[in-house]
Amino acid sequence: MKRIIENLEYIKTNLILPDIFTLESAPTPEVVVGGQRRLLFCSNNYLGLSTHPDVKSAAIAAINKYGVGSGASRLISGTYDVHRELERTLASFKGTEDAMVFSAGFSTNVSVIPAIMDLFAMKVRPLTMLFGRGVILSDELNHASIVDGCRLSRCKTAVYNHRDTGDLRRLLKRHRRRRKMIVTDGVFSMDGDIAPLGEIAELAKEYGSMLMVDEAHSTGTLGLRGSGAVELHGVEGDVDVIMGTLSKGLGAIGGYIAGRHELVEFLRIAARGYMFATAFPPHIAAAVIEAIEVIRRDSSIVRRLHENSEYLRHALQARGFDTLLSETQIIPVLVGDEMHAIQLSKGLYNRGFLTGCARWPAVPRGNARIRLSLMATHTRNHLDRLLEALTELGEEIGVIS
Ligand code: PMP
Repeated sequence: MKRIIENLEYIKTNLILPDIFTLESAPTPEVVVGGQRRLLFCSNNYLGLSTHPDVKSAAIAAINKYGVGSGASRLISGTYDVHRELERTLASFKGTEDAMVFSAGFSTNVSVIPAIMDLFAMKVRPLTMLFGRGVILSDELNHASIVDGCRLSRCKTAVYNHRDTGDLRRLLKRHRRRRKMIVTDGVFSMDGDIAPLGEIAELAKEYGSMLMVDEAHSTGTLGLRGSGAVELHGVEGDVDVIMGTLSKGLGAIGGYIAGRHELVEFLRIAARGYMFATAFPPHIAAAVIEAIEVIRRDSSIVRRLHENSEYLRHALQARGFDTLLSETQIIPVLVGDEMHAIQLSKGLYNRGFLTGCARWPAVPRGNARIRLSLMATHTRNHLDRLLEALTELGEEIGVIS
């Protein structure tokens, strides 16, 4: 316990402890926190679907039919007709043969990566003895759940520089003889940039590597059908394992895998987070089926998200802010110094804005930033108010001159 207390002290004195807002209303652009109305710029409810009337009605009807809990893991008695219907809907949305859902995106990554990489050790034991276990090639900015999935796989993880396909090639060459899987976020959660999936897919083919893409932040937000980064890059046939979440663009909770039928069939009996966790409740499945239906019916929602992102990003850049290489609804405003980032975020809070303040260990030291995430439901007026406050505070703190 003494060590825990010492660690906590360290965390508190080193500015790592985040401020946690308690919302007293739904995650719409205008929320109530501490009894006051504020503008929300740090929710992943990108398309506003968690409060869409049709999505809510579908969930309520399912609660009336099934209740609020699923009662068991999918393998015991936690598979409902709506779970299966959602999996078929996801497969058709993603353009894959099959799909399966998990209780959370995090548990999807931490159980699927080890399941696949252990398979290599299991199936090719003689080769494993000759060449060692498989290797995972992972972008340096991949999400924590990928990092943990790699750790749990007990394979070597070779980390390549962010989006650097030259560096990836170097590592692929170095591990030419080993079984390999490249893993990358489609959209990077702290920078809002997109992985160069076309080039990565080519490299995967050239070096005989499997390819896994995490579509947590691109599901519902990228591509003509809104299916994701894989669709945007036209590499549907080249990605072996598509992973994503139901918790962000699709407005609910849960994770999914989409791919070939055999992959899904295998993971249902090999991914521990699927086998040993209670299934999410049926009303979540009903809500997500409706959320996908809404995106299919009304493409203007996705378009509005893009328009909002482009508008804010360009306006921030025009005022001298560094938004890194963001191309999406996740817009970092680089501050650098940890203290200044906290000051900026507190200043925004005092003026009625809720934003993310990302700092080490979520991002590299000295790269602290305000992380903005936009929603299709933000209005121009919301964006202009944020811009004005950011500009004034940014000048005051010296982030822009
Ligand atoms: N992958 C990425 C890239 C993420 O950003 C996140 C969540 N922030 C996850 C996986 C985990 O998903 P969930 O929050 O739905 O568990």
